Amino acid sequence: MDTSKQNLLDKMIKRDEITRYYTNGRDFIDDELIMRQLEAGKKNTDPARIRDILAKSLAVETLEPEETAALLYVTDPELRKEMEETANAIKHKVYDNRIVTFAPMYISSHCINRCRYCGFSADNPNQKRRCLTMDEIKAEAEAMTGIHGHKRVMAVYGEHPMTGAEFIAESLDAIYSVNVKTRHGNSNVRRINVNAAPLSIDDLKIVQQAGIGTFQVFQETYNHKVYAQMHPADTVKGDYGWRLTCMHRAFDAGIDDVGLGVLFGLQPDWRFEVMGLITHARELERFVGIGPHTFSVPRMHAASGSDVANSPSTFTDDNFIHAVTVLRLSVPYTGLIVTARETAELRDRCLDLGITQMDASTRIDIGGYSQRNTTQKMDEQQFMLGDPRTLEQMIVDLARKGIITSFCTAGYRCGRTGGCIMDALKTGKEGTFCKINAVLTYREWLDDFASPESVKICEPVIQQELKAIEETYPLFYPNVLERYNRICAGERDLYF
Ligand code: SAM
Ligand code: SF4
Repeated sequence: MDTSKQNLLDKMIKRDEITRYYTNGRDFIDDELIMRQLEAGKKNTDPARIRDILAKSLAVETLEPEETAALLYVTDPELRKEMEETANAIKHKVYDNRIVTFAPMYISSHCINRCRYCGFSADNPNQKRRCLTMDEIKAEAEAMTGIHGHKRVMAVYGEHPMTGAEFIAESLDAIYSVNVKTRHGNSNVRRINVNAAPLSIDDLKIVQQAGIGTFQVFQETYNHKVYAQMHPADTVKGDYGWRLTCMHRAFDAGIDDVGLGVLFGLQPDWRFEVMGLITHARELERFVGIGPHTFSVPRMHAASGSDVANSPSTFTDDNFIHAVTVLRLSVPYTGLIVTARETAELRDRCLDLGITQMDASTRIDIGGYSQRNTTQKMDEQQFMLGDPRTLEQMIVDLARKGIITSFCTAGYRCGRTGGCIMDALKTGKEGTFCKINAVLTYREWLDDFASPESVKICEPVIQQELKAIEETYPLFYPNVLERYNRICAGERDLYF
């Protein structure tokens, strides 16, 4: 490696902020142990045992790795169906009848890394790169919240000195500063999650103080060898340990809400990646007593200039469905995000497997919301999307299935994060607040953004939810109604 590259790595990667989280000099992903767990699981798919495991999941208990491994090898269609039904039942028990919605805001496509699957790779000369100014970021926020009605944004950045922690913090301020007049009230972004490169503890503190929601970093692959093949060693991202330990650093920096993910399709052994995710979740529970708030299950899609992303993958839709089901069963309290990378049909299918969050009206070209772009251009975005639905179309599709879309951002602002939210989810208490807040935010969105035709389809959902709240919490119901009526009169951002 040449000296300038080595100097950059030495500057960006704080060695002691990796090794302090190791045991006996090793990170917590033991590839061979995972292989052995998978082998054992493969031999142990007896239906009676699988049903015992499902009963444990339904009791909202985190599964042991050997139990997850067994679920990953179930092939019998009847048992697979039982697994899916249990996954759906857990979702309803823990997260009730709602889908939380958000949209990504891609802020910069400049990147110093050369991940082989990504259109933003520094090796890709075709990518038309752009980094938004603070005014452009505000324009994006205005479009996202003012045209579509989004309240939750996922801010996404390539890794580059231009977009370090100070820039991220400034961009969060810019997004939070926007407030747009709507038909009956106003709209603003109330929670910003961040998907960015791993940061040092000091940098994470800077981002934390700017009011971050969830800090997301995807490991991409937990397999050490595949990781090395996909991420050149002379890049920052080439350091497996720096990435793997970033959530430990986040907790040490005071961020107690983190999101994990893998890039499915990167390697044939998708079961290994599910095991990696649950091992990571268990390690965080061991480390701070708090698991991840969300798992993301991005799957590799076509990307500008990438040999890997544009090659056929062996990872099928059925594998995807199986992986999502097993994740829901293995860590019942963790949210599950399926993004617009996937088609509307596949995302709808995942609704029955216990997913909790979906994006909509998604633009991943830099500045795409304010420019009102409607077509995808391979060389101006990281990869290609599969679900072009607007937020309104998605909300209506969900309403037709009796599902309420939630814009709730109260948990984070009321301090219901980290250990507190985990406990609330495990005991079913979070469902109460979320059910009510879903209704309040849905009312806001319907009044401010829905067409009369959409209101007709969505109104029965709100009535159904209000009725359920009245039946379950008769004494509290008048308080709910009082805030609901204030929202109908044009007040905004009322929550419990
Ligand atoms: N640059 C930061 C990083 O790599 O951590 C931020 C994340 S990147 C902009 C967001 C995520 O997109 C990556 O973590 C990866 O999982 C995913 N991604 C990259 N290339 C992709 C592709 N071809 N198809 C689908 N998802 C992809
Ligand atoms: Fe850069 Fe992230 Fe793309 Fe890798 S995945 S090239 S780090 S933007």
